[in-house]
Amino acid sequence: MNQEIVDLVRDIYGDSFVPLHRPVFEGNERQYLVDCIDSNFVSSVGAKVTAFEQQVAAFTGSRYAVATVNGTAALHIALLLAGVEPGDEVISQALTFIATCNALTYAGARPVFVDVDLDTLGMSADALRRFLATHAEIRGGRAWNKTTGRRISACVPMHTFGLPCRINEIVAICDEYGIAVVEDAAESLGSYVGSRHTGTFGQLATLSFNGNKVITTGGGGMIITDDEVLAKRAKHLTTTAKVPHPYEFVHDEVGYNYRMPNLNAALGCAQMELLPQMLAIKAEVAARYREFFAGQGVRFIDAPEGTTSNFWLNAIVLDSEAERDAFLEYTNAQGVMTRPVWRLMSRLEMFKACQHDGLENSQWLEARVVNLPSSVPESEFGRLKA
Ligand SMILES: *Cc1c(COP(=O)(O)O)cnc(C)c1O
Repeated sequence: MNQEIVDLVRDIYGDSFVPLHRPVFEGNERQYLVDCIDSNFVSSVGAKVTAFEQQVAAFTGSRYAVATVNGTAALHIALLLAGVEPGDEVISQALTFIATCNALTYAGARPVFVDVDLDTLGMSADALRRFLATHAEIRGGRAWNKTTGRRISACVPMHTFGLPCRINEIVAICDEYGIAVVEDAAESLGSYVGSRHTGTFGQLATLSFNGNKVITTGGGGMIITDDEVLAKRAKHLTTTAKVPHPYEFVHDEVGYNYRMPNLNAALGCAQMELLPQMLAIKAEVAARYREFFAGQGVRFIDAPEGTTSNFWLNAIVLDSEAERDAFLEYTNAQGVMTRPVWRLMSRLEMFKACQHDGLENSQWLEARVVNLPSSVPESEFGRLKA
């Protein structure tokens, strides 16, 4: 089967080295960058940042969007806004990219890991419910972990590879316990539950525009929320907490220099114009993989019932760790980039002492899931005119 997969990938992407996910600049990227340089506003103030925020808010159906230097910074601020304080615990999933846990560590919190679902690869609502029923008690309207004695202030589910997790159930459970939900939607721009965009279910959510994501600003992130007070605070905290004034420099708290530069936002504005077509083409690539793997009897990880995935990174589940390793060896040696899922956070030195449930599904997936090349193919660039 391994050679047949290489053949399929080559059929989609051509004969040179095939990366996992490459950025595509086929719209107004160059023009907007030049406009930006000509305007002299290249840094953290400028028309493109505001325009990009408005485009992302409109696309996701979120009331407010605040642009940041990267997705990790966005998540850091979102957690502070959700009320996370030093010494608190934040529930997340062990199957995620390190940025999730780094951000909550910056906020002074400790992660607690619950298992993921086998179909969504995202946080399992059942595992969350079981964990809270066993370990949490509500005191003064807030959740406390009876086992560790710490306050559980937030929950960060992640929409893995663009597949929406069971976010409605997760939000309902967290509401019962007075736990704020911050969605890590870094990978899920263009993914929906029903007709509602991922990242609009929690109190706050964060996106990433890193070079390997669906669209890119080089580096960049976004906080989205429907809450005006939180949005204003997000802007304030990410812009050094400067009190607006024509010439005076007064800062009313310790803020962060996290605002996205105008140059990066210029790229983002051009990328947003291409996003709908990019999503359509990515869905077609996913369809090619779906059909191929159905014929091979291999599980292609598809969008769960009732959801739409952006198919950021396509993934399959192989039968065993040995089969996975053989697949990774073979395809990478052929110049077709594939990779395993992240090492579980609960196994990393920094987080291995953190509390977690059995993580059965997380461990099972860790040994078997591989990602496949998922970029918009060059042969389709003609469809990307803005
Ligand atoms: C990409 C990503 C982030 C944010 O990454 P940045 O590189 O800081 O933009 C956060 N969480 C997950 C799950 C991601 O994949």
